[in-house]
Amino acid sequence: MTKHPKIRVLHIEKDLSDRLLVRLALMAEWGGVTLLEADNGPSGLALARRDTPDVVLLDIALPGMSGYEVANRLKSVPDFRHVPVVALTALNGPGDRERALAAGCDGYILKPFHAKHFALELQEYIEGKRETLTPEEERQALREIANLFASRLEEKCCELAQAQASLEESRQLSSKFIALAAHELRTPLTIVQGYLGILLDAVQEGRPYDHVESLEAAGGLKRGVQRLSDIVDRIIDVARLEANLLQLNLAEISVGAIVRTAVNDLRSAIEARRQQVNVAQFDDLPKVRLDPQRMYQVFVNILENAIKYTPDGGQISVTGSVIPAQAIPGHQDFAPQTSFFVDVAVRDSGIGIAAEDIERIFQGFYEVKDSSLHSTSKYQFLGGGIGLGLATARGIVKKHGGWLWAESPGCNLEKCPGSCFHIALPIRRGASEIR
Ligand code: ADP
Repeated sequence: MTKHPKIRVLHIEKDLSDRLLVRLALMAEWGGVTLLEADNGPSGLALARRDTPDVVLLDIALPGMSGYEVANRLKSVPDFRHVPVVALTALNGPGDRERALAAGCDGYILKPFHAKHFALELQEYIEGKRETLTPEEERQALREIANLFASRLEEKCCELAQAQASLEESRQLSSKFIALAAHELRTPLTIVQGYLGILLDAVQEGRPYDHVESLEAAGGLKRGVQRLSDIVDRIIDVARLEANLLQLNLAEISVGAIVRTAVNDLRSAIEARRQQVNVAQFDDLPKVRLDPQRMYQVFVNILENAIKYTPDGGQISVTGSVIPAQAIPGHQDFAPQTSFFVDVAVRDSGIGIAAEDIERIFQGFYEVKDSSLHSTSKYQFLGGGIGLGLATARGIVKKHGGWLWAESPGCNLEKCPGSCFHIALPIRRGASEIR
């Protein structure tokens, strides 16, 4: 064994076991050699610039920045031109060696290698050996590399454009959230402050105790605090869903029972808006494993929206059916675990939804119209909310293994083409028979 304690080898290789193998081989042959290691191109380049090694061993199939790009970058640094860069790779296809050499590598060693030969070969490169290409080979390989670089550049430009678009979307969503939260939270806070003021004034002025006034103030305070607490709950639900921390308490239940409870609880709002709600028979449908409280929350949300976005005197209907997984739009993306679903469809004769908004409404804090213009009155025609309802509802349905989507011919405030929201919940194999 010859000792080469001063030789510094930089090894750029994604695979830890391959790096270990090289380390063991060189230690066995050279003794106290200094090994610098990086598992990707950019960190390898940073190490090379900092520690100027005597030789670089370079994997070609690196993730992100490829070995060709690393070799090219290394050779473009004037101080580095004399340092041999040796490709150490399993790539053994036609043109692989030529491309590596044309990109800037001085040698090409194939994996797996023989430890003794490997150290000797490396020694030769350190002492000045350089592999070369014929001018024709070099021209051809350079053309291929230029094509590779161009297609990677194109790929990166697309990724950058997508990242920019989603950054811009999150920037807009976060300013929307601030505007909405300010508006939504301020309204109940103003109510709470107002009623507190009435009570405090009465106490400070030493006015005689007025039972009716106090009761009214207490009722107002309760409503304000309840509204604040609802908003906070909605924000917490979204955070829980995003962190995948929402727990479900599942039970085998008829969806119809939950739908009927939700409709009954919204009866006074429906009557106030003089709307008609028809709920079909759900008795023939198989039971589904679901969290009753969470699904109640979903149905209330969809029904509240149907009430809000349908003019006074409009129609709302709720029907149920069994559908195959293929009938769910985007079923390829959400990869259903079962073949059949109970589909609850909530149809309204409301303003409808424009095609460009039909998916966006399921994003958190997304509202079709300007949030500063909406009324916070819960069931008033076009009265807005915090824009979290549908994001939470879809998250809950998804957590059940189901899907929530909307259909509408478009949005028109005069013609009111209506919308239909589908809540599809999976029927477990072997669960109650599908009729
Ligand atoms: P919000 O709390 O503002 O109601 P949602 O997440 O429940 O938020 O709904 C998001 C948006 O989707 C609403 O602001 C509205 O523009 C649109 N939307 C929801 N349901 C309907 C419906 N039935 N008809 C028309 N538009 C609807």
